[in-house]
Amino acid sequence: MTGHDAMKKILVPIKMVLDANMRPRVKADGSGVDLSGMKLSINPFCEIAVEEAVRLKEKGLAEEVVVVSIGPAKVQDILRQAMAMGADRARLIETDQPVEPLAAAKLIRTAVAEETPDLVILGKQAVDDDCNQTGQMLAALLDWPQATFASALHVEADSVKVTREVDGGHQTLVLPLPAVVTTDLRLNEPRHCALPNIMKARKKPLDVRPVAECGVDMAAHLNVLSVRPPEARKAGRCAANVNELVGDLHAAGVI
Ligand code: AMP
Repeated sequence: MTGHDAMKKILVPIKMVLDANMRPRVKADGSGVDLSGMKLSINPFCEIAVEEAVRLKEKGLAEEVVVVSIGPAKVQDILRQAMAMGADRARLIETDQPVEPLAAAKLIRTAVAEETPDLVILGKQAVDDDCNQTGQMLAALLDWPQATFASALHVEADSVKVTREVDGGHQTLVLPLPAVVTTDLRLNEPRHCALPNIMKARKKPLDVRPVAECGVDMAAHLNVLSVRPPEARKAGRCAANVNELVGDLHAAGVI
């Protein structure tokens, strides 16, 4: 952004999901994953989005980083974590209802309307439902350019240059601002939060408002029929020699 003003604001929507180190447990009635008593954390791709936004601010390329999340009151924990990483402010749109990607995108759009950011950086997907839809839907609702699966991001005068990992290589796009970008795994490695920053984050502003104030239809469009755990893996067996191994592979129809 040489010779230009820094971006005024980056908005980063973040989602709370089952911690990646926890083993998911399916509810007895097969209606979904049982989260009771489980450790919940910031979605890994959202953490990468926060890290990228904070790095842009630290480089003087953005003035403010605002994080927003839609979910129950407990989501404040990940908003505080994002502020400990360096975000300036947070917004919680509070609801105990499940939030489908279209509703999430519409609710994030209400935050965009109020915050008027230059850039929105989302995770490419939330690892709980693997939808990979919210960023794309948000860009469509806003009619803003979008670059998904960013593995590198460079801010230039009034635009961002984004490298995307696609089948067979890398694609580079230039998007005029304002724009929507979603993060891939290799964009950066998020920092660990130092204790003084965790303490400082407790004092940063966190705006909480009920979802009902946003005027977005939360009606479900998807009907989950059943959720099943993956089949348990059968125990293996050591073949005595190569011929036996090849015979077994033939018998199993693998070769
Ligand atoms: P998904 O389309 O559900 O895979 O989510 C993609 C990205 O959209 C996430 O990484 C977040 O950046 C954002 N997102 C999805 N759901 C929410 C939510 N409830 N609150 C805030 N951001 C969300």
